[in-house]
Amino acid sequence: MMPGAPSVRVGFGYDTHRLVEGRELWLGGIRIEHSTGLDGHSDADVLLHAVCDALLGAIGLGDIGQHFPNTDPAWKGADSKRLLAAVVKLLIDRGWSVGNVDCTLVMEQPKVMPHAPAMRAAMAPLLGVDQDAVSIKATTNESMGFVGREEGACAYAVALVHKT
Ligand code: MG
Repeated sequence: MMPGAPSVRVGFGYDTHRLVEGRELWLGGIRIEHSTGLDGHSDADVLLHAVCDALLGAIGLGDIGQHFPNTDPAWKGADSKRLLAAVVKLLIDRGWSVGNVDCTLVMEQPKVMPHAPAMRAAMAPLLGVDQDAVSIKATTNESMGFVGREEGACAYAVALVHKT
């Protein structure tokens, strides 16, 4: 670290996955009952993937695809909480800790906010923060575009990390 370099950093993450039939819907580390689920190599938890990218971005470590390639059988069907835990370990190994994360999930259905407390409870211990340092917001896309047609969901996240 350069002398005088700031001891706090921010990172930004974005992810999107298709909604398909025959898949479980995992969001924010929890399973939500719904007629469709997100498709992907892992459990396709779009929210956790955006958070992983925000954390990796904050410390200049690239993105989730570089660390957990979707060609790697080790991550096939993986619970994305394992990915998030691995990302947090990369941070900790380099002397960083998570300050807070703020996320927005964009999808038409199901309603996300009733599940936000459970998501925060699932994510906070993995991030090593209090639940009030895990913010989850949700919006629809007002029926516009691929999200509006319920073809997929996307998530945005920012994360603050600090030197320990
Ligand atoms: Mg993803």
